Amino acid sequence: MKLELKNSLSVKLLRVVLLSALIVGVVLSCAQIVYDAYKTRQAVATDAARILDMFRDPSTQAVYSLDREMGMQVIEGLFQDKAVRMASIGHPNETLLAEKTRDLKASPTRWLTDLILGQERSFTTQLVGRSPYSEYYGDLRITLDTATYGEGFLINSMIIFISGVLRALAMGLVLYLVYHWLLTKPLSRIIEHLTSINPDRPSEHQLPLLKGHEKNELGIWVNTANQLLASIERNTHLRHEAESSLLRMAQYDFLTGLPNRQQLQQQLDKILIDAGKVQHRVAVLCVGLDDFKGINEQFSYQAGDQLLLALADRLRSHSGRLGALARLGGDQFALVQADIEQPYEAAELAQNILDDLEAPFAVEHEEIRLRATIGITLFPEDGDSTEKLLQKAEQTMTLAKTRSRNRYQFYIASVDSEMRRRRELEKDLREALVRNQFHLVYQPQISYRDQRVVGVEALIRWIHPEHGFVPPDQFIPLAEQNGTIIAIGEWVLDQACKQLREWHDQGFTDLRMAVNLSTVQLHHSELPRVVNNLLQIYRLPPRSLELEVTETGLMEDISTAAQHLLSLRRSGALIAIDDFGTGYSSLSYLKSLPLDKIKIDKSFVQDLIDDDDDATIVRAIIQLGKSLGMQVIAEGVETTEQEAYIIAEGCHEGQGYFYSKPLPARELLSYLKQAQRTHVGVL
Ligand code: C2E
Ligand code: MG
Ligand code: MG
Repeated sequence: MKLELKNSLSVKLLRVVLLSALIVGVVLSCAQIVYDAYKTRQAVATDAARILDMFRDPSTQAVYSLDREMGMQVIEGLFQDKAVRMASIGHPNETLLAEKTRDLKASPTRWLTDLILGQERSFTTQLVGRSPYSEYYGDLRITLDTATYGEGFLINSMIIFISGVLRALAMGLVLYLVYHWLLTKPLSRIIEHLTSINPDRPSEHQLPLLKGHEKNELGIWVNTANQLLASIERNTHLRHEAESSLLRMAQYDFLTGLPNRQQLQQQLDKILIDAGKVQHRVAVLCVGLDDFKGINEQFSYQAGDQLLLALADRLRSHSGRLGALARLGGDQFALVQADIEQPYEAAELAQNILDDLEAPFAVEHEEIRLRATIGITLFPEDGDSTEKLLQKAEQTMTLAKTRSRNRYQFYIASVDSEMRRRRELEKDLREALVRNQFHLVYQPQISYRDQRVVGVEALIRWIHPEHGFVPPDQFIPLAEQNGTIIAIGEWVLDQACKQLREWHDQGFTDLRMAVNLSTVQLHHSELPRVVNNLLQIYRLPPRSLELEVTETGLMEDISTAAQHLLSLRRSGALIAIDDFGTGYSSLSYLKSLPLDKIKIDKSFVQDLIDDDDDATIVRAIIQLGKSLGMQVIAEGVETTEQEAYIIAEGCHEGQGYFYSKPLPARELLSYLKQAQRTHVGVL
């Protein structure tokens, strides 16, 4: 706040001090002037008495001897005094012996002085003979003009008035300076410091003690103000703490420090809005402990509390994958998985939590085992609002508990059974390799240059002991997730190379083998070494092995993929990009990758006759491949029309049911032999 000068204390002080000094000066001067007037009046009387005294004797002489001339001389003597206006000698009952009068003195100020002193004043003294007779002869009478006294009086008054006022003003000024120096100046400095105080941190800057004012009222004021500011800050701090702890209490669970239901609802609201925008899934997992009541009864409530705390910590260890984690109350917790793509991600988390609980909790020197049941709902399938998702997850959990415990359950039965099957498959997958449940089938690839079988693609088959044939589209992603793909992939490579060696030995010496690589395999550092080894072990010409990598897999991390492809290519193997057209390849990336072949995805080939767009895409891919100097193969060729179209567009090779389904090794050998004999030839 800016202080206006006219409002400042200094100016006010100056005004008040000067005004009071002026008033005091005037009043005192006036009193002195009144006193002076009184003194002047007395001076007139004293002068008159002195004059009468001086001229009494000669006057008595003149009146005694009735000497007129002498009387006149006395009168003239009297008139020497300028103030004498009239003088007379004589007996009151007779004619006067001598008398003289002169005009009143003309003075510009006499109108004023006449008011104070009177115009003139008469004085008489009796002329008496010598004692013992003391005869009375007459009177000596004089009248004095007051004008001369008045002038003197006025000059004096002026001096008194002016000097009085000036003195008072000077005193006032001195007083003001003293005040200013002692009071207003230090005050302004304090105000300056006060204005720089941060209201949120009032005690951050202490007001300084002014030099020379440490012990007086100002010093006390500064000290008190500083104490006040400090206590304001303390109180504000306490208030903030109280507010935030209130807020915490309202939003967080007292025991575990996790968000409570209310806070979870807010968080989930937000997560759902975000997920809705990007069309991602969200999973809500409601975790309920199995028989927590029993534990409380068997041990103690304190042990129960400690257990909940420890459990909260274990759940927190998953927080990297969680959008929210909360305690719903009692023995129930909720976990929110934001931005998931597939329901199995929720199933995996649930299983991880259940696995986590396998390790016992050490509470009060006891080892306690906890089991939990988890109800899972998915957004958007099971509900589009926080309330619905939470409510259904809790319901599902409660329902699941009534059937069997220590497991998870999805709200939708079909999702649930799918997840269960998935989990089972995943478990069985770990065993499949050692139990020899895999085998390879081979699908021929035809060159359109001379209609000959130039290669085969190895495709894995899993015959599950219970479920029978499980399509690779189902189990390969599972194997990628649990890591078994590395071992499976190596087995496929080994089998394929071994088979190729056999076929080469059987006379199909230029036959090429295409093997699918998973992205996980591609990023596995051992792969180039494995490929090199196999080529050597089975004495295969390097270009007889073609490795297929999917477009989407490559595009996830272009630069690493490019590196790995380069080291693979050093072994001499060819690289093909599989399912081309389904991902989001950009031309520039495509150019930067070391690729030999493009495989047009079967979805385009299958519809190209009915769908103009697909036909255009197929044509464009063929053109693109050719312009980049790559081979182009169409997969999923099923009809003559499809074949005719791609051949017309200049596609180099084709693969599909039109030529053959994927066949077991022995059947493929027959196919190759058959092809050798008919018009479809083998190199
Ligand atoms: P992919 O590499 O694109 O293989 C082509 C898929 O299309 C094969 O399915 C094949 O049977 C099928 N196919 C071939 N010709 C036709 C046709 O004319 N019409 C139709 N509708 N389909 C045709 P499959 O064997 O079920 O394999 C599916 C996917 O699984 C493969 O797609 C590949 O990505 C993956 N896969 C198969 N074997 C392996 C393997 O050993 N390792 C890896 N990492 N992935 C594999
Ligand atoms: Mg393939
Ligand atoms: Mg494909």
